[in-house]
Amino acid sequence: MRPPPHPLSPDDSLPIPALPDSPTSVSLIGGRLSVNFANLAALGGHFSWENLLHFLLLCRIISPERSAQLLALPRSDPSAADALLRKADRLRASLRESFGAIVRREIPHHASVEPINEVLRVTEGHDELVQEQAKWQIEFIAREGGLDWLLAAIARSGADIIAEVGNARLRACANPQCGLFFYDASRTHRRRWCSMARCGNRHKVAAFARRRASQ
Ligand SMILES: [Zn+2]
Repeated sequence: MRPPPHPLSPDDSLPIPALPDSPTSVSLIGGRLSVNFANLAALGGHFSWENLLHFLLLCRIISPERSAQLLALPRSDPSAADALLRKADRLRASLRESFGAIVRREIPHHASVEPINEVLRVTEGHDELVQEQAKWQIEFIAREGGLDWLLAAIARSGADIIAEVGNARLRACANPQCGLFFYDASRTHRRRWCSMARCGNRHKVAAFARRRASQ
């Protein structure tokens, strides 16, 4: 049986909507929060404050109101925004290195996982029973709400995957040019592509053309 989701991984159990191929859909096809975050690097280009907020909004880590507030942070507190952006970038690189090692059937290095631990360390708090309508739920209450918290769920999701026994569900897309990771939650565990729209269909079309040419 699947354990209940940890409060620091709020979006990991959400179904991934099928979307057409776009930077937005690419940031959701990994199937897990940390995998989606690691995949942002494969899109290329500069990782900006706006990119980070857009991702956090897309994954429902922040509300549209919070996103609008944070958008102004580089002007009101440039050093705080810069520190968080650099931490996010280190976390992203750390996840890519660790996931890369896992799909090669290697053990991730200490140095690769350290930025993940760095974020996990700030997430002190406790569980508490909270009444939600007619039932009680266990909710995680943070000791303090610093900016580092914005990365906590991503780090926790990455830690869950790295610590998973066997690591059999994490894969790299079968298209060697793609560079995206995904978490195979399919029943048969035979998913090969980051998505059919992005890589699977292209492969099918190419294979079809090859068959036609050889006839
Ligand atoms: Zn792909």
